[in-house]
Amino acid sequence: MVFIFTLRKIVEDALLIKPFQKPKQGSVVHRQFATEECDREEARKRRFHLISMDAYERHKKFVHDYILYYGGKIEDFRRSGANDKTDLDVIRENHRFLWNEEDEADMNWEKRLAKKYYDKLYKEYCIADLSRYKENKFGFRWRHEKEVISGKGQFSCGNKHCDENEGLKSWEVNFGYVEHGEKRNALVKLRLCPECSHKLNFHHR
Ligand SMILES: [Zn+2]
Repeated sequence: MVFIFTLRKIVEDALLIKPFQKPKQGSVVHRQFATEECDREEARKRRFHLISMDAYERHKKFVHDYILYYGGKIEDFRRSGANDKTDLDVIRENHRFLWNEEDEADMNWEKRLAKKYYDKLYKEYCIADLSRYKENKFGFRWRHEKEVISGKGQFSCGNKHCDENEGLKSWEVNFGYVEHGEKRNALVKLRLCPECSHKLNFHHR
């Protein structure tokens, strides 16, 4: 509004000035100049304010301005987080116990993230979940850095829930598992204390 008004005033004033006439030093010119300067200063401030905000702050301001002018509720703008996934969710979904060449064909970013995580694991000894040994069901996973440093699964028992470090024995287990709807086999190494070794071989004795 102010802008249009100023513009019309400039045009009107310009029409009143004759080509040979020197600009008047009257109060009207002075006020017009002040208004222009004021507008310019205001625009400069607004621009500076916008630049100083980060993208999200700016977004919030625009949304706020939109609601101020057009009405509505902030709830209408809130995005749904229902489909949001963390990196961990993505890794979990795309994780493989062992990657082969086929798995690495046509990689997307989700697969690449899972593969990157996989590459960081130490694939020598496994950590075992023996809690369902009586049903002949075992879970195996690779160790991560912390466990390698502490010696878990190598210098202490590889059973997830056991910290025994005496009388450890190495086992090689043919681990059959189903992953992404596919049955696979892997030969894994395991270090277990006598008691946990007994659990592992419960069905073989
Ligand atoms: Zn043990």
